[in-house]
Amino acid sequence: MTLNIANHSSFYGVSHHKSGQINLPVAPKCNVQCNYCNHKFDCLNENRPEVTSEVLSPTQALFYLEQAITRSPNIAVVGITGPGDPFANPDETMETLRMVRAIYPEMPLYVSTNGLDLLPNIDELARLQVSHVTLTINAIDPKIGAEIYSWVRYNKKMYRDVDAAKLLIKKQLESLSRLKEAGVTAKVCSTIIPGINDIHVITVASKVAELGADILQCLPFYNTKETLFENLTEPSSEMVQEIQDATSNFIPQMKHSVLSRSAAFPEKTVEYRPYIAVCSMEGMMINQHLGEAERFLIYGMNDKGKSLLVSVRKAPQAGGGEQRWKALAETLKDCRTVLVSGVGNSPKKVLNSHGIEVVVLEGVIKEIVYGIFSGMDMQELMKRSQIHSAISHCSGTGKKCG
Ligand code: SF4
Repeated sequence: MTLNIANHSSFYGVSHHKSGQINLPVAPKCNVQCNYCNHKFDCLNENRPEVTSEVLSPTQALFYLEQAITRSPNIAVVGITGPGDPFANPDETMETLRMVRAIYPEMPLYVSTNGLDLLPNIDELARLQVSHVTLTINAIDPKIGAEIYSWVRYNKKMYRDVDAAKLLIKKQLESLSRLKEAGVTAKVCSTIIPGINDIHVITVASKVAELGADILQCLPFYNTKETLFENLTEPSSEMVQEIQDATSNFIPQMKHSVLSRSAAFPEKTVEYRPYIAVCSMEGMMINQHLGEAERFLIYGMNDKGKSLLVSVRKAPQAGGGEQRWKALAETLKDCRTVLVSGVGNSPKKVLNSHGIEVVVLEGVIKEIVYGIFSGMDMQELMKRSQIHSAISHCSGTGKKCG
């Protein structure tokens, strides 16, 4: 039987066609090393490849969730999927879930984990009425698992090879049984890695079905640079289809997920833009033209509601026309606004089309960033600053913005 998530209401409480979801990045550490994962990026088990999220504290995450819900009332699901593993960071994960549940009693919540440290948290997840837990299980045979995982860190001890895989698989299967005893919906995710576990995924499906898993998602392995598996071939769509067909004999399939690495991803998630980017020559004032900026200062808010410099990002190289601005839009994809003292029409158009507002003004960075985060009217903020129009600052030669 094939089950489409769109009519599987127990997962999200609503059809995902009508809903949006937001992942709160509160869990930076991971307790496992999957050979297809580069820890520089978000956990690959339920996220887009080669994406890095900035980490938030639980209080910041709640603040941004509230902001996001105000801006996008269609948010209907809140998840914690990384950027590492939620239960390698149990305090942050559970605190965030408790806070969100206290404010949004009806909101469907979910977590996605490798399962190593899930067990001690299951009872509380059930009490918090988490709508489902996604458990990534790539093998149930430790010899195959040893080819997929380099190491596992459990109770401050490192395990390697078959010992690591044995421990991880044991914890995953125990967690799955316990989730079902506690009445929590369990989705299992298996990554198909050609030549390593492709056929074995069918055995995984049979085992997890026996333990009561509600649904299985078979995801193609994604070839990530700087990993042990960087030269491994990705599975063909035929192979994925064959394995999905074979596993569907044991357990319902989730073929398209709001979280899958398919092209459907961008339309089905709520854009998460917690930051403001600033062009500044010295770091105190907004006083630089967009086209002249060699780096962007990225501001967020701290736990106490104060603006905070969270990172400095390199600007794409000058030249290249529209490509340069598309690359900039990618660099600033988690920023809602960029503050500049001047901008040309072309970059403004490209950034706007990627959902980034470009505001031209001059003034003290901290005051203006704080004003924006506190919801002050932009016109009022501009009145308080020295306003300069885009035209008066743009040389018009195309050298800056070309
Ligand atoms: Fe990466 Fe695996 Fe850890 Fe996810 S569980 S962050 S894929 S090592």
